[in-house]
Amino acid sequence: MNRTPHVAVVGATGAVGVEMIETLEKRNFPVGKLTLLASARSAGKKLKFKGTDVTVQELTKDSFQGIDIALFSAGGSISKEFAPIAAAAGCVVVDNSSAFRMDPKVPLVVPEVNGADVKSHQGIIANPNCTTAITLMALYPLHQAFGVTRVFASSYQAVSGTGAAAIEELARQNREWAGQNRAWDAARLDSAPSVYPHQIAFNVLPQVDSFLDTGYTKEEMKMENEGRKIMHHPGFRASVTCVRVPVFRAHSVAVSAEFSRPVSLAAARAALAQAPGLDVVDDPANKRYPMPLDVSGKYNCAVGRLRLDCALDNGLCFWVAGDQLLKGAALNAVQIAEELLK
Ligand code: NAP
Repeated sequence: MNRTPHVAVVGATGAVGVEMIETLEKRNFPVGKLTLLASARSAGKKLKFKGTDVTVQELTKDSFQGIDIALFSAGGSISKEFAPIAAAAGCVVVDNSSAFRMDPKVPLVVPEVNGADVKSHQGIIANPNCTTAITLMALYPLHQAFGVTRVFASSYQAVSGTGAAAIEELARQNREWAGQNRAWDAARLDSAPSVYPHQIAFNVLPQVDSFLDTGYTKEEMKMENEGRKIMHHPGFRASVTCVRVPVFRAHSVAVSAEFSRPVSLAAARAALAQAPGLDVVDDPANKRYPMPLDVSGKYNCAVGRLRLDCALDNGLCFWVAGDQLLKGAALNAVQIAEELLK
């Protein structure tokens, strides 16, 4: 790999893409040249990188000549079509979509968990689902200490996880309510939602992604399927309810985890305290616990509300929060690119 690689960001104008550009800059990734790609709608738009304007170009089949690393965040269908073309052109793709995550030839990587898997790539490396990545930041150190068997979890997922249009939908609905000076009990708005199936402002939606025949959603099964692959733990089980909440940024997950070995709070705290990329924020007496507003814009995830689970043997409850645009997407992708240069 070129030590000062030519990097492309595919989906550069999106919620994740702009974070990728900023993360490359903030972490001082040794970018030799930066190419920004998006749809024809954005071609010609200028985005700043290290104080310089970079013009967004339209993504085409010829976009990848001379590019060393391409960070993709333009949706699954774009990844399916263009990631193999990029890989064939000699570029290493780090893909944020779900298109290749479960492909046995494609490493699925959270660097703090299985960074060494990057080495086995054949041109494409997958970034995990955001809720899964954030959960594993706390679950994996506990797994190393006690051996996780299964988890029961509920997520509280921010609208920026759906992209730029969903951020605008929540903002617009909040403006509509406030602008009309409505009473608290007149929270149902007149305008129809366009991104989500229901109004998201002043509401919670127990649906993230589409439903499977089992009654779970696709998003809910990612924690078990991707968790098994990332932790190299084929027996891991996860029963998850994913919920969209009217939060702009950062996902939170309430987890009850069962382990094969006895758990103590002291040993759990010790394991979490030394975990990379994770802060322990657990001082309930002083009302300190992780919250989306506190982890927004932060590289580290945060874990708290630690307690022995009263309904499971060898069980621990915890609450983990993380910026899904960063650890669930842009930061994790740049960390993978950093692994490639090691
Ligand atoms: P987004 O805000 O809607 O951005 C989508 C990006 O894709 C935009 O740059 C858009 O460009 C580009 N795009 C759309 N159609 C295109 C086309 N035909 N050709 C080239 N570029 C095209 O979405 P996002 O939230 O950033 O998500 C992007 C991907 O990351 C998705 O696969 C998503 O599942 C994944 N992801 C997102 C998150 C998150 O927290 N948001 C977390 C993990 C993974 P234009 O501006 O030109 O339309």
